[in-house]
Order: sequence, then structure tokens, then C-alpha cells
Amino acid sequence: MAASSPVAYFQAALKEYFNSSNFSDVIIRCEGKEYKAHRLVLCAQSKWFSNACNGDWKEAAEGTIELPDDDLPIVEAMLNFLYHFDYQASTSPMIFNAKVYGIADKYNIPTLKSKAIEKSRKSVETCWSMDDFPHAIREIYSSTPGNDRGLRDLVVKIACEHMETLSEQPEFRILLEEAYGFAADVVLFMAKGSFERIKTHKCPNCGKTWEGVAPSGPNYYCLRCGSYRSDWEAHVVHR
Ligand SMILES: [Zn+2]
Repeated sequence: MAASSPVAYFQAALKEYFNSSNFSDVIIRCEGKEYKAHRLVLCAQSKWFSNACNGDWKEAAEGTIELPDDDLPIVEAMLNFLYHFDYQASTSPMIFNAKVYGIADKYNIPTLKSKAIEKSRKSVETCWSMDDFPHAIREIYSSTPGNDRGLRDLVVKIACEHMETLSEQPEFRILLEEAYGFAADVVLFMAKGSFERIKTHKCPNCGKTWEGVAPSGPNYYCLRCGSYRSDWEAHVVHR
């Protein structure tokens, strides 16, 4: 494969190591399936794996990391991303992307969160009228903390834009009654006419832009390079 830059060359080379025993020094186990992985690849992109591999955890000693609470297809998507910088959503992409966002949050992989937001935007914009939109919203509101606005603001905005159609769907009405956080966000959005919270930030460290909501006050990281800072408000891109 012809690679045009050192980074592209490295990315193409890294793909060869996905689930390869060459230089593998850690096993990822989920639902009985094992993946041959590489500590350097995991730790460079995930603070959670970095802690698991470096600390006094039993994972560090045994060379096997068990992920008993995660779904295998979502773990596979995560591992695919760590080696390929992309993943393929299966059937029902809205729910799949929401789950990938959740696992990226859990294992602290900011670049995967960014990719999941990008893919969610496309899937929600095209699939909001499908039966699984309410399920995707449920997934988003149950799998991430309330102060993580990335996907919440996205689905609230789309839902409000199509509320007339959606309010005819029984599943969607049940969702409004049951998912309290969602219903509250819908009311707030409608009262204000828009969400000002999703902003585009230009990272001073990597120079790339990312969309999302940086909580004011505490340190928050760039969704592209992972560098932390507390003054994201000063780096909002105005259009
Ligand atoms: Zn950055």
C-alpha cells in the first residue's frame, strides 16, 4: 500500500498488528473470545488501559485483561479503532454508535469518542424516523454521565426538529414518559429554541477542531489529541 506521509505509513503498518501474535504482550478477553493485543497500542490511546497495564493490578502481572461487563461487538469495534482508527457500525447504527461512545467514555479514549460523535451525527440525521431511535436515546441517557453532553445534545436537537412526526410514534411517547432526563432536555431546548451548548473548539495543542460541550471549570480534554485544559471557552471557534 502506498502511503503518502509518515503518519499514513505508520497507520497502514499498525493495521497489520490487529489481533496478531507478532509482539503481542497482552490478551483481551470478552465473552470467551480472546484478542492478541499490544500494550503500547492500548496504553498510548487509553488512560484506563495504561493504568491496567502499569499498576499493581492483576492484569499487569497476568498479561490478560478481562472485560466481563462489555458486549463483544462493541469491544471489537473499540479494538478495531485502536488499530485502524475507524470502526464499522453493525445493524442499527444509532444504537451501536451510542454504545461505542459509552465504551470510549468508560475506557477513556477521547479519539474514539470523537469518532463515535461523528458517526452518530450521520446515523441520527438519516435514521431518526426509524423504530430504534427511542432505543438509541435510552442507550445514550443510560450509558454516559449527565454532564457528558456530546450525544445527548445531538439527539435532543434532532428530536425537537422532528417532534411533530415523532410525537405520533407510540414508542417515542413511552420514551418521553420514562426517560426523565431526555424529556427535561427536550423542554429546555424548546424553551430556548436552540442549544448553545454544542460548540466547536480549536485545540491550541494539536490545532484540530472538535465539536462538543466542555464543562466549565474542571479540566476537560481535547477530543482529538486528549490534552487537558480548563479554558476551552477561550478556544471556541466563532463562525
Ligand atoms: Zn488537541
